Amino acid sequence: MNKRVPIVIANWKLNGGIDLLCTSVAAFIGKHFSAKIAICPPYLYLRDMLNFLQHSEIMIGTQNVSKYESGAYTGETSAQMIKEAGGSLCLIGHSERRQMFHENDPSCKIKVTRVLNSGLMPVLCVGENLQQREAGITNDVLFRQLHDALDGLDLGDKRIAVAYEPVWAIGTGKAATPEEAQLVHEYIRSELTVLFGKERAESIHILYGGSVNKNNAYELLSQTDIDGLLVGGASLDPEHFMQICLHANSHAEQLQSL
Ligand code: PEP
Repeated sequence: MNKRVPIVIANWKLNGGIDLLCTSVAAFIGKHFSAKIAICPPYLYLRDMLNFLQHSEIMIGTQNVSKYESGAYTGETSAQMIKEAGGSLCLIGHSERRQMFHENDPSCKIKVTRVLNSGLMPVLCVGENLQQREAGITNDVLFRQLHDALDGLDLGDKRIAVAYEPVWAIGTGKAATPEEAQLVHEYIRSELTVLFGKERAESIHILYGGSVNKNNAYELLSQTDIDGLLVGGASLDPEHFMQICLHANSHAEQLQSL
């Protein structure tokens, strides 16, 4: 039985400001969630968010991280700095970074290693674009992304998560159906089994991202291998995001009662 506690991660991208921060976070203060919830605002707001979040259970994450530790790398932010700012996790290899900022699998691997070594959880984002899906090479794309970024990593007892985000579903309003997503998640888990062994692969969260909203969240989370959600657009509306989190919470409570 799947006992992975659902995780919902908000990816604000280059959006939001102090107003969004206040309204989003206010809704969570003093509330207990059985699901895990994280928000990834732009770097600049990490400290503000930490201050606001002192009385809530929300985790803070980032949308990217430098592959460098320190030095003359203008504009970069290291995993250690994110850790010191109160971060718990970092998204790595989001398709927008791959498409627009030349992120590639080898750099993802360096980032995953740095993040693990800093005691944060890397969330490796993978996914095929529409052309690749139509050409029937989704699994080949995922195989390469997973193996190139994770092969040979010694996880020890460190935590890692994978987010499956089909590029054609991101920001388009066309989410994968729960069945479509489940098939791909199953494949991802089988490759994680090859990489890390069965027991470890069973413990790794595989999140789905791509046009998640309050209407499809529950059914997506009902699939055996969908262990959480990465939410872009809908996370910018605090009420909408709360609805998604409540669905995840219901799932978490259901799992606890088994
Ligand atoms: C994302 O970019 O991580 C994402 C899931 O976006 P959206 O929910 O807007 O499709």
